[in-house]
Amino acid sequence: MRYDVITLFPEIIQSYCSQSITKRGIENGIITVNTHNPRDFSKDKRKKVDDTPYGGGEGMVLMCQPIFDCYNSIEKIQNSDDFEFIMLTPQGEKFNQKKAVDLSMKKQIVFLCGHYEGFDERIRLALKPREFSIGDYILTGGELPCLVMIDSISRNLKDYLGKDESACNDSFSEGLKGLLEYPHYTKPREYMGLRVPDVLLNGNHKEIEEFRKQESIKRTKTRRPDLFN
Ligand code: SAM
Repeated sequence: MRYDVITLFPEIIQSYCSQSITKRGIENGIITVNTHNPRDFSKDKRKKVDDTPYGGGEGMVLMCQPIFDCYNSIEKIQNSDDFEFIMLTPQGEKFNQKKAVDLSMKKQIVFLCGHYEGFDERIRLALKPREFSIGDYILTGGELPCLVMIDSISRNLKDYLGKDESACNDSFSEGLKGLLEYPHYTKPREYMGLRVPDVLLNGNHKEIEEFRKQESIKRTKTRRPDLFN
């Protein structure tokens, strides 16, 4: 998977991607993460990328020219089935695990991160990105939502996770039929008077599987009745 991120703050993307599983994914050649800064494409002599909104009002709006030129400079896979162009915006469709799995089938995703008040509307109209929100709250920029998406999409790529980190029994996954995951325990068997449930210690895999399934159902019913329904 090739990710291209259009951002005024490439260090935020690079910093996250140089750690942990994302770093390993890059080292193993499973993902590449390229950053592209619209400021490098600004034709303004002070490298301006934003301006005040027509009609007045607070804040600054990202201008068309640096974004268009930056987007057009990115080498793109020609097969449209393999390609997605995503704008991060609180006004977009809500991102979730199913969409992460679907997007992991692509070969290249270009992300456009906003800042300030957001984008000149003509960026939407002409470049026609698919718009994604990570939730009903406002963040300062699109970098965190972009990283959230890169991280969760990548977890579904073959060989991205080590076998000890399998995603198939995570909450929301198909393996758990979209439910929340069951509780986990590790050593010691007793801590502060709290004991690991006996069933997890008896080595009977069928019983353990049934216990986990029931715990998963119980959790989902109490914490996320919306998911259960
Ligand atoms: N004025 C915009 C609005 O009300 O829709 C919000 C602008 S926000 C301060 C700046 C940028 O952060 C957005 O252009 C977008 O790229 C990103 N952003 C903020 N919240 C987001 C969210 N919940 N999901 C995705 N992107 C978000």
